[in-house]
Amino acid sequence: AHNDAVAAANEALNAFIVTTPEIALQAADLVDADREAGKDLGRMAGVPIGMKDLFATRGVQTTAASHILEGFTPQYESTVSHNLWSEGAVMLGKLNLDEFAMGSSNETSHFGNVANPWRRARGDNAKLAPGGSSGGSSASVAARIAAAATGTDTGGSIRQPAAFTGICGIKPTYGRCSRWGTVAFASSLDQAGPMARSVEDCAIMLEAMAGFDAKDSTSLDAPVPDWSAALDADLKGKRVGIPREYRMEGTDQAILDLWDKGADMLRDAGAQIVDISLPHTKYALPAYYIVAPAEASSNLARYDGVRYGLRDLPEGANLQDMYAATRADGFGEEVKRRILIGTYVLSAGFYDAYYTQAMKVRTLVQRDFAEAWHDCDVVLTPTTPTAAFALGDKSDDPLAMYLNDVFAVPASLAGLPAMSVPGGQDADGLPLGLHLIGQQMDEQGVLNAALAIE
Ligand code: GLN
Repeated sequence: AHNDAVAAANEALNAFIVTTPEIALQAADLVDADREAGKDLGRMAGVPIGMKDLFATRGVQTTAASHILEGFTPQYESTVSHNLWSEGAVMLGKLNLDEFAMGSSNETSHFGNVANPWRRARGDNAKLAPGGSSGGSSASVAARIAAAATGTDTGGSIRQPAAFTGICGIKPTYGRCSRWGTVAFASSLDQAGPMARSVEDCAIMLEAMAGFDAKDSTSLDAPVPDWSAALDADLKGKRVGIPREYRMEGTDQAILDLWDKGADMLRDAGAQIVDISLPHTKYALPAYYIVAPAEASSNLARYDGVRYGLRDLPEGANLQDMYAATRADGFGEEVKRRILIGTYVLSAGFYDAYYTQAMKVRTLVQRDFAEAWHDCDVVLTPTTPTAAFALGDKSDDPLAMYLNDVFAVPASLAGLPAMSVPGGQDADGLPLGLHLIGQQMDEQGVLNAALAIE
């Protein structure tokens, strides 16, 4: 049924880059056989999911939505996808995304835009962005053609698309999910997580995805808790922090109202609401847009026309010419912009002025949170400053696009677990997300508060 739903809807949504109906049926048959044989079934047994095309899947093209990886078929499986298959999950196909996960609208994909299944209930009926970079993930789950999807979040790419499409998504603590076999964007920030219809689905799927992995040097060596079993929407004794610095200019009134409503819901669930201060919040976004491109420029050096995918070899070309031709042709505009910014801030003359400074800001943002945890257990903010915007609205204005991540990025810099949960709608009927940030390794606190809102 899900294969059929994907086939019927994908032309309009463009959520999948490739579909894998045969693989899905084979995997489903294996689950059936295990069930008939009376074997223990995994926690994702038979659940049809979409896989963001940033995770290497053995024998199935993996592109990161880039021309430079077109035709690349890995001989290995990412740890996260491997973990999901071990728990019985079934792959429907590889999901569209912003090229190398760089973007907030899925418009930088070499394989074209993804359409948000939501439209405004009144006025302008333009197609809306599904958010990014996990735009195929958010659209496929919101359209109910996948039961759930994997996402990755470097600076908001699980949470912002979840908010734009009315679904749930959690970025766990940095290191919870292995990065092995996931195409790298900014290694000190990249973190995989689930995107699903409910808080409980996210908890179950995260249990399947997470776990220590010796193949990732920054993997968290800690047991994976049974989050779904411990879900509890009773927040008695919990303190929820409202950071005053997140009241920013340019935030829609509907979002500010939603934030108040979210605080009321948590109060009704028994929590105490406290005002807190995260003083370096306004420096987080500029710092992120130095650190992330810096790491990206280094990570993307490997796409040289030799090791993966595309190779452009002009007549009479030498090695340098081949690098230049392949990279000029293979990378899109936004990716090139990040490489230029990244190499610039890492260059000898500017390293201290930009990169070192950004790393200091990163430490200050981490300390802000460490300080805040004396006064609260979890932090509540909006996920995004606006509801989903129209496709094309921001694609010519990188700064306007980057501003979308303003609420998401501090938790990324600090490596903290954070989740978007649907909180309400704006006047046009578009979904709005609330954002919960938790302490290091306290996914449970985040999930429980999200459950109280859901
Ligand atoms: N939108 C942010 C960026 O473009 C975050 C992307 C992400 O989390 N992968 O960098």
